[in-house]
Amino acid sequence: MVRARSLSLSVRLAFASLGTALAIGTVCAVGLFSLENVWRRASAWVAGHLELLDDTAAFGALVYQKGFAAEYMLTSDRRWLAELASSRAPFERWLQQARATAASADERQLVDEIQSEYSAYTEGRSRALAMFDGGDPPGATRALSENQVHLERLLVLFRSAGQAGRRALAAQFNGAEWSVKRLGRLLVGTSIAGALASLLVGFWWARRITRPIYELRVMVDSAAERTRIQVRPGRSDDLDRLGEQVSALVRKLEDTDAALVDHRRRLIQSEKLSAVGEIAAKLAHEVLNPLAGMKAAVQLLVRGGRPVSPGELGETAEALNREITRVESLLRRLTNFARPLAPRIEVCGVARLLDDAVAAAQPTYARLGVTLRRLRDGEGALPPLEVDPLLLTQALGNLLVNAAEASPPGGAVTIGAASEQSLGKPAVAVSVADGGSGIAAANLPRLFQPFFTTKPSGHGLGLAVSQNILAEHGGHITAANRPPAEGPGAVFTLHIPIVR
Ligand code: ADP
Repeated sequence: MVRARSLSLSVRLAFASLGTALAIGTVCAVGLFSLENVWRRASAWVAGHLELLDDTAAFGALVYQKGFAAEYMLTSDRRWLAELASSRAPFERWLQQARATAASADERQLVDEIQSEYSAYTEGRSRALAMFDGGDPPGATRALSENQVHLERLLVLFRSAGQAGRRALAAQFNGAEWSVKRLGRLLVGTSIAGALASLLVGFWWARRITRPIYELRVMVDSAAERTRIQVRPGRSDDLDRLGEQVSALVRKLEDTDAALVDHRRRLIQSEKLSAVGEIAAKLAHEVLNPLAGMKAAVQLLVRGGRPVSPGELGETAEALNREITRVESLLRRLTNFARPLAPRIEVCGVARLLDDAVAAAQPTYARLGVTLRRLRDGEGALPPLEVDPLLLTQALGNLLVNAAEASPPGGAVTIGAASEQSLGKPAVAVSVADGGSGIAAANLPRLFQPFFTTKPSGHGLGLAVSQNILAEHGGHITAANRPPAEGPGAVFTLHIPIVR
């Protein structure tokens, strides 16, 4: 058992360490992934803007478009027009690229301005070329030089675009740098927190492991002292050995328990015998009283010296019969009490026990005019018991008869069962509550003593016999007065363990 416990603790310790390592590893992986992500995005952005800057440089060549137009007007060679047309494509590609990479509203506005300025420039140039082709070279030359203003504005806008690109690039780099720094701080913080957490978890687990071992050691040491099990000092780390010692201790405890049960059985028997001895005087008193009555009756018949009337004879015979019955019943009960019980155990439902006892007590209740109420709440959920049903019905019957005798005519007695924990074991409690005058405080400790009775014709053996029956089943009977709020009366409870 110790080995199994130590194994399971080790496995849990290993899992705890694995969990901490996994947590730190996950944070590092997330950190690295984020770093790579930042880097990838930054480099893509930089590549896009570098391309843009390259093209911006290429736009210087736009200026030459004016040159191609001028060459055409000087030479009338249409190849210059073809050059002019092909030089438009790179610019329009750049415009598309610039629109796609524009990240802010300012950049987008700049692209719009360049677009409209370029449209104005190309329209002005086309107008000049049309004038030239229409036979108005001087007008064409004038229009071309007037169109110069758009080209200059375009160059200014390109410069602004270049500056905006540089600013955005710098901002992006600053942002990336800040992200990387923050990530670095996060990783350092996580590592420190992870290390601290591992330390705490390790410390906690170590305490969880060492404390039970220490307690086990203390327990075994003190038990060994009491039971003389050999424990060598300096071997407290040897869990297997501790396990063997504890097993030996448990075996010894089981033996001791069995011996105790045996002693208890003998004690009950010898208690009964000593009780019989103790009560001999009481018994003599109990028997002598009716004997004296019988003797007087018989003397009346024998020595009277006068004829006895049939009426007198009948009364005397009746008195004799009453006293003989009383002595007989007393002796039968006494024999019953002194005889060792030999329970015949079987599995028996609680409902059956109560049904049998109630049926047996019914005539007494009818005779005394008392109602017997059977409570059935939760009875079906009670587990079956391992008992001698006849003996238990007898014990329960004694309580029911006592309750009826204690009740006023027209009164009511209730009987019901519930599950409970009795002396730390699962048990069933069967309670009999009456509405009598209850039990005097001085009598409470004496109720179960043999021959204790407060009834004129009682024997005082019913509760003593019932208590013996319960002891045979590993249970007991308790007696108490009902709580004042519920009115006067007594409650007697059988506590029957579910497993003997
Ligand atoms: P007996 O009934 O012959 O007196 P018991 O052993 O059955 O013998 O009862 C012993 C005594 O316990 C009774 O005389 C009575 O004083 C007391 N007793 C038992 N049951 C009750 C009860 N329900 N209410 C009050 N007293 C009771």
